[in-house]
Amino acid sequence: MVKALVTGVTGQDGAYLSQFLLDKGYEVYGFLRRSASAEVIDERLRWLGIAGQVRMVDGNLSDLSSLIRAMQEVKPDEVYNLGAQSFVKTSWNQPLLTGNVTAMGAHNVLEAVRLAAPGARFYQASSSEMYGRIQEARQSETTPFYPRSPYAVAKLYAHWMTINYRESFGLHASSGILFNHESPLRGIEFVTRKVTDAAARIKLGLATELAMGNLDATRDWGHARDYVRAMWLMLQQDTPDDYVVATGRTVSVRDMCRIAFAYVGLDYEEFVKVDPQFMRPAEVDVLLGDPTKAREKLGWEATVTLEEMIVEMVEADLARHRARIR
Ligand code: NDP
Ligand code: GDP
Repeated sequence: MVKALVTGVTGQDGAYLSQFLLDKGYEVYGFLRRSASAEVIDERLRWLGIAGQVRMVDGNLSDLSSLIRAMQEVKPDEVYNLGAQSFVKTSWNQPLLTGNVTAMGAHNVLEAVRLAAPGARFYQASSSEMYGRIQEARQSETTPFYPRSPYAVAKLYAHWMTINYRESFGLHASSGILFNHESPLRGIEFVTRKVTDAAARIKLGLATELAMGNLDATRDWGHARDYVRAMWLMLQQDTPDDYVVATGRTVSVRDMCRIAFAYVGLDYEEFVKVDPQFMRPAEVDVLLGDPTKAREKLGWEATVTLEEMIVEMVEADLARHRARIR
């Protein structure tokens, strides 16, 4: 059986990737940080019905020794580093922690692979946020980076360290530059889920308005289920490399609100209010990915449209709130 070790296993992508790998017959190990709320930590894995099938290894990305021990215990064939302080807005309030976990945490994983599992294939969860103040209208693997938040700077460090370990030590290390991807399991603080949850609550009479930040930003949004397939495909290649994973379409936050509210028969303009509290010290105005390389080399393509995904997310949020009301 092929063995995979997944950091960030309790997050959105960790859950979908675990499901994908289990379906492929993998033995999946999750690298789990200790939590005082242990009974809810695996909520996403339970939502997908796979909680009992993922074996947990205790550790923290900030603790290199725990990563080395995990490599020694699991002896993984593939390592997916999805763990991070992943919320851009929080990275201004906790910049050093973001550096510790998102940048140095990735470096710790690389070092643990090099020392204790050098034959394993490694995936780094890089981000379109690294493009920040965009240098080309469509961002590809050759577009220069211009990070605009402590999160993006931390991701850039991890991205280059992945390339450096590949070139210096011959590790099979690949970096996926993934554009925003969402799902019913997206954290509630991210804009799509915040909007689909609010549309559901307002529809059910549980809320009356939604306070938002910059409605003019645009993002290239895809579905997490599609994007974890791209991660796996990267590690199946003979040669490690870096790939942009995106849909090739960008939509404004405003239009995304319109789509979500229209699905429940509401006009977003009646409910969405702009609140400076949700503005950022430095904004990434536009992101639009060019996934040509992923299509040509990996045979990967996004299969879910933004509209289909928003419907799935609103339906899931309606179901969650109805279950709570009952
Ligand atoms: P989530 O925020 O949903 O999940 C983050 C995961 O990291 C959680 O499992 C969290 O554990 C874990 N984690 C955080 N800190 C530590 C730590 N110190 N030690 C061990 N684990 C830790 O992120 P997503 O699933 O959305 O994203 C996965 C990865 O992809 C992240 O690295 C993200 O930055 C990156 N990415 C995401 C994109 C997206 O649009 N979703 C786009 C591009 C990149 P806990 O549950 O305990 O908090
Ligand atoms: P990001 O691209 O990783 O920062 O993902 P987010 O989902 O957090 O934000 C996407 C875009 O939506 C950014 O340009 C935000 O400024 C914008 N946005 C506007 N209002 C909000 C809001 O209320 N919450 C969040 N999270 N983002 C918002």
